Amino acid sequence: MKKIICIILCVLCLNVTVGCSNEESLVSEYNISVTLNSDMTASCNLTLNYVNETKEKIDFLEFMLYPNAFSKGSEIKPIYSEYVERAFENGVSYGGIEITSVKQDEKSARFEVIGGKKHFLKVELLEEVKSGKNTQISIDFLVTLPNVNHRFGYGKNTVNLTGFYPILCPLENGEYYESVYYPSGDPFYSDVANYKVNLTVPSAYVIASSMSPELVEIEGERTTYSYARNGVREVAFILSKNFNVIKKSAENAEVFYYYFNDENAENSLETAIKSLDYFSNKYVEYPYEEYVFCEADFIYGGMEYPCLTMIDKDLNGFERDYTIVHETAHQWWYGLVGVNQSENAFIDEGLTEYSTVMFFDNFSEYNKSKKQLFNAVYNAYFELRKSLLKEDDLTPKMNRNLGEFSSDLDYVSIAYYRAQLTFRDLCEFMGEKRFDKFLKNLCAKYAYKNLTLNNLLLTAEKYKKGAKNFLVSYIDGSVAVK
Ligand SMILES: [Zn+2]
Repeated sequence: MKKIICIILCVLCLNVTVGCSNEESLVSEYNISVTLNSDMTASCNLTLNYVNETKEKIDFLEFMLYPNAFSKGSEIKPIYSEYVERAFENGVSYGGIEITSVKQDEKSARFEVIGGKKHFLKVELLEEVKSGKNTQISIDFLVTLPNVNHRFGYGKNTVNLTGFYPILCPLENGEYYESVYYPSGDPFYSDVANYKVNLTVPSAYVIASSMSPELVEIEGERTTYSYARNGVREVAFILSKNFNVIKKSAENAEVFYYYFNDENAENSLETAIKSLDYFSNKYVEYPYEEYVFCEADFIYGGMEYPCLTMIDKDLNGFERDYTIVHETAHQWWYGLVGVNQSENAFIDEGLTEYSTVMFFDNFSEYNKSKKQLFNAVYNAYFELRKSLLKEDDLTPKMNRNLGEFSSDLDYVSIAYYRAQLTFRDLCEFMGEKRFDKFLKNLCAKYAYKNLTLNNLLLTAEKYKKGAKNFLVSYIDGSVAVK
């Protein structure tokens, strides 16, 4: 995500094939059917071919239920109070997900919606799954979309159907990691899987999604789209009755832009193509056939999904270009290389911000050098830490759980500003050529996997002796950025 806040903007304005390469049988497959109803509920089924990729037997599964962050009873609100008015233009609205049945291999299975925030689904397996074996789990569920300009919800122009289905919690040291939906950051964390989706909607909607439909069937006033995509962390759909669509080829993919409020749509498309090609050459080749980005009713600048980006329809000028490039960089730092964003948001946001700055430095037509952009962030970082937080808190710890940030500005100053300056300083410590090789290797090595903090440190150390301690001193807050 790219949160746009005043300070930085003012400063800136002044101036696989995986799935494909993995054996298909070794990756879990989500088969989802969704019918969007006119009352903004969706009747859904998920049939998961669960593959036990661990070395241990599995006797229960745990899923994240992100929509329940938007339910009336949620203890933690998904939006900070200062954004509530802009998010809920028509007054506070609630949504959620109701699980109506769970079966394992056609037999009813015991399930429980757990956690104080009802954010997780625990399914007791009737039969345990041995290492390397699989089982079929079928989950019926009903989704209610809130009327909110957020990732999950609908606004005046778009229906944002993201994070709407149960997503398996990744295992960390043998335990399911429960990613709580805090208002800070992007509390999303999942393993790569294969997907098939059947989506039925009123025919008037045009759909921007993580994949192109393979089959379209029209029946009366409803249209069903069938999709498939291998080797992604999640799938998402943005629907609108107002979308215009343009497309153009990048080096390795077709790029589609769905928009309704952009007078410079061709320019936006060019920015997306240039950045996709730039990052493809700088890191690893973009491995999917399409990259889609779209405008949306969304209050936080932009949001990344595998093969799909949404941007706030109200962004203009350089803000819009910056957000498009930032979200495109997330196709590598989140989409391909996964990170536990609830614990180490600074890794993917920091690498994404660093990559974004390097893009602008390489394309002089945007008139933003890295010196200019890093200086703006440097000033914004110290201004935020000094004026909005404690005077002496200029060396904060970076690897915090999202629930440990005291405010949105606390989060922004660390996950975006301090993090990108950390990677800038690491680049200086290693030397640019070596640093570029390090990032390229990091991307190739951890594509389709989740990168832990420890593996980031170990890989950095391989490229330059002392890099591990250098990074740790920034992350644990013992030094200030230069
Ligand atoms: Zn971001």
